[in-house]
Amino acid sequence: MTYDIAIVGAGILGLAHALAASRLGLSVVVVDRDQRAVGASIRNFGFVTVTGQQNGDCWRRAMRSRDIWEEIAPAAGICVLQHGLAVVARRPEAASVLEAFRNHPVMGEDCELLSPAEGRARFPWITGEAEAVLYSPHDRRVESRDAIPRLAAFLESAHGVTIRRGLAVHAVDSGRLVTSGGVVEARHVVVCPGDDLATLFPDRLAHYGVHRSKLQMMRLRPLKPLHLNCAVMTDLSLVRYLGYSELPEARPLLSRLRSEQPAHLAGGVHLIAVQSADGTLVVGDTHVYGDTMDPFSDNALDELVLEEFGAVFPHVDYEVTERWIGTYAAAHDRLVLIDTPMDRVRLVVVTSGTGASTSFAIGEEVIQELCA
Ligand SMILES: Cc1cc2nc3c(=O)[nH]c(=O)nc-3n(C[C@H](O)[C@H](O)[C@H](O)COP(=O)(O)OP(=O)(O)OC[C@H]3O[C@@H](n4cnc5c(N)ncnc54)[C@H](O)[C@@H]3O)c2cc1C
Repeated sequence: MTYDIAIVGAGILGLAHALAASRLGLSVVVVDRDQRAVGASIRNFGFVTVTGQQNGDCWRRAMRSRDIWEEIAPAAGICVLQHGLAVVARRPEAASVLEAFRNHPVMGEDCELLSPAEGRARFPWITGEAEAVLYSPHDRRVESRDAIPRLAAFLESAHGVTIRRGLAVHAVDSGRLVTSGGVVEARHVVVCPGDDLATLFPDRLAHYGVHRSKLQMMRLRPLKPLHLNCAVMTDLSLVRYLGYSELPEARPLLSRLRSEQPAHLAGGVHLIAVQSADGTLVVGDTHVYGDTMDPFSDNALDELVLEEFGAVFPHVDYEVTERWIGTYAAAHDRLVLIDTPMDRVRLVVVTSGTGASTSFAIGEEVIQELCA
């Protein structure tokens, strides 16, 4: 059989392309070398982040993708566990960034800037430092290790997508994939290899300077009940996420963090805390950049994350029940790479930590352009 579209990679990006194509009535096959998802798409926070994404395309894609998560979640049996984000400013400089963000005509829409007293009333779990709190209603959180398999099953059962697992794709031509299990024929091909930079089109990926970021993550079990009614971030996120860090008000904050938290900045450490259905918290993260990453966790970096966690939650005792690392593709000059390595073939890589937040919109754009 010749499919309309063959997609390499069954991470969130490949599945997002499959959804977009099947919604247009196209026949779709997705091919992945692994028997189940084990890549970045199940190692992440499942944090569908709108607030703080770079103003422009990234923010717009995140908003659109958030809407698609909401549309498909009930039908796919995916639980949206958390709604919204609270950014807790620990310093006056961070409060100034939040105020500027709140006043931004696009990114700040529907966000609220709360005084410390208002923030503590709305979010009783804030028992540490707080100069101000930004609340955004836009963000969502899913449990990725559960959501990605459910999304794949939904695409198969409700959209007629064929997913072939355990097949490594060795080569791509216009019109076909050469796999470890034979040739798959398709009119169009989309390659979504995540951070595999060596197998398919390595020359193109090298040309764009694509490399990797390695992250450390933890799961904490609070020893007493704790209810986080939304995701949580702090000052360090305001110098990492471009929607904040590109505001002029972020410069004084960065100067202060350079003198007060240099190790955090060097390790790419900031705080995201989200909560799972069983009450545990997924907490991270750290960023080390390179080409071939070692597989080891650096305890000192985890301690820096936990130190930031302790600044907001000083009275929460917990045990660390899981630690894991993840890697994603990264590039210095772009958040996503959409390339045409040959006729009727697209190579698509999210080159930033935004794939859970933007993939559905990217999939729609690529499929519409490719099949127009
Ligand atoms: C720890 C961590 C936390 C993160 N947190 C967030 C977050 O909170 N919010 C957010 O938006 N983003 C987050 N991200 C980023 C996000 O997870 C990624 O951008 C996204 O998962 C990338 O999806 P993908 O489908 O491109 O890659 P992957 O999930 O890596 O999937 C790629 C797939 O392609 C397959 N493949 C590759 N080459 C071949 C081949 N030759 N033949 C067959 N199969 C092949 C692989 O087996 C794999 O299944 C995080 C990432 C990490 C690592």
